[in-house]
Amino acid sequence: MEEQFILNVNDGATFIDKQVKGWRSRKGSFFGIGPDAERLARYDGATHRQCEAPGCKNIIPNNGGWLWCYDCRSAQKIIDYNELPDEPWNADEPCYSFALDEYYWDEDEIADDADEHGGLSALMLQKCEPVFATELDPMDIYHSDLPDDGDAPNEIKEAFEELNAKIRTCKTPLSWTPRRVKAIIELEDENGNLQSNKTS
Ligand SMILES: [Zn+2]
Repeated sequence: MEEQFILNVNDGATFIDKQVKGWRSRKGSFFGIGPDAERLARYDGATHRQCEAPGCKNIIPNNGGWLWCYDCRSAQKIIDYNELPDEPWNADEPCYSFALDEYYWDEDEIADDADEHGGLSALMLQKCEPVFATELDPMDIYHSDLPDDGDAPNEIKEAFEELNAKIRTCKTPLSWTPRRVKAIIELEDENGNLQSNKTS
């Protein structure tokens, strides 16, 4: 079959389709007539939506990207946290408050926030793990500047090898990130009583 040649400026490259039907949201976005089109157009055009957690009928603003209301998300957060295994906190590493999104190195800071926010358990403390620097590959870094079958110069590759050797042996983390483990901790309050977040 002979291949057609149509320039973008020629007639026939496009036409106005006056027959297209479909769902359009209040904001004007077009969603077509696919199986999800009406539902998506309704969400796009709505200012509020109903919380999608089972059994909840709370109405929430349709702007934060949340499917669940604040109360349902908070309740689920507690359920998720309570299912985690636990380990004692080791003060050589930080611990993380899932409730407050805070990292602590210091027992006094934990005690202050526990007093302020309803006790040690309310902080929902988690153990942390270190995040170490990862090794670098010159081919990844210079990929867009190299020809398709190109290779980085040897001096550069050797320099990366030296750097990677240092990265491998570096014991200092870049940062810490929460582990899916509860951090169990005991603190003495001002009256000398021990408080702990251990539940069993
Ligand atoms: Zn809800």
